[in-house]
Amino acid sequence: HMATVRYAEGKGWYEPRIEARAPIPMDPASAVLHYAQEIFEGLKAYTMPDGGVAMFRPDANAARFAQSAQRMAMPAVPQSVFLESLRQMITIDQKWIPQSDEGSLYLRPFAYASEVFLGVRPSMEYLYLVIASPVGAYFSGGVKPVTVWVTPDYTRAAPGGTGAAKCGGNYAAGLSAQAEAIEHGCDQVVYLDAVERKYVDELGGMNIVFVMDDGSLVTPPLGGTILPGITRDSILKLAQRAGRRVEERPVSIDEWRTGAASGRIREAFACGTAAVITPIGTVRSPEGEFTVADGGSGEVTMALRQELADIQRGRAEDPFGWVHRVL
Ligand code: PMP
Repeated sequence: HMATVRYAEGKGWYEPRIEARAPIPMDPASAVLHYAQEIFEGLKAYTMPDGGVAMFRPDANAARFAQSAQRMAMPAVPQSVFLESLRQMITIDQKWIPQSDEGSLYLRPFAYASEVFLGVRPSMEYLYLVIASPVGAYFSGGVKPVTVWVTPDYTRAAPGGTGAAKCGGNYAAGLSAQAEAIEHGCDQVVYLDAVERKYVDELGGMNIVFVMDDGSLVTPPLGGTILPGITRDSILKLAQRAGRRVEERPVSIDEWRTGAASGRIREAFACGTAAVITPIGTVRSPEGEFTVADGGSGEVTMALRQELADIQRGRAEDPFGWVHRVL
């Protein structure tokens, strides 16, 4: 199925519907096709041990969707409309939710400028939709550390740009960088800041966290150029609750390289909805490559991954009330 809600200036959001998933008719002059006024979210629904279904922190996705809308001069979808559309999708497509330990139903809410005109200004009509797709384990055959490519040529977001928004254009601009990473035998691209080309921002579709030799976590601060990841936020909160020190501060690529060599940086991982946590084993750039510790999956990384996955799947206590029961 798909959920749809329409918006028109002066009328607000109207006509919420669940219908059979089908192509969306679009005029060639639909604003989104020309100026990319589009935003999206990604979150998962999981089968709980008792057979019920829950989403993980959908209110956080609703809040980020509203922030993305503001940056892209779009009207915010009210949280109640956002949550209800997800609830209906899960209810009607429950049979598509994998029962397995590793599977989930990926939900993709998005909104785009649907007005038919060619001028450059915010659209006065929008369409909000939700589609869903069952997904299996991110890593088949167990978690494997990834090799990342520090791109010398591309940046993801400049101050004042759209880095903190989840808009399609950010990802279109990242495709060349991702292709460059793959050409160099890497799984993911690491972006450096756009001003000094020195500090680690994030990966193509994940945030980054370092585990220091004293057990503390260090992660780049949300300065407007990084997507405020919900997984990142969850990990920081869980770590803090467990008494682990957490520091949000810039980390340069030199600090990473020398820290990995001296042992000051013991582990590094990427985090996001798709993979939860991915250990980073090897870092490659035009200057050469280095490994983080022995290039394997770090202990703290794997423990945090287990802890968060257990909460998401209802296998462990949910201390922050993140699990949003639907069925
Ligand atoms: N950064 C980028 C660029 C992303 O696309 C994502 C995935 N949404 C993330 C970080 C991680 O965000 P989240 O934990 O909310 O999935």
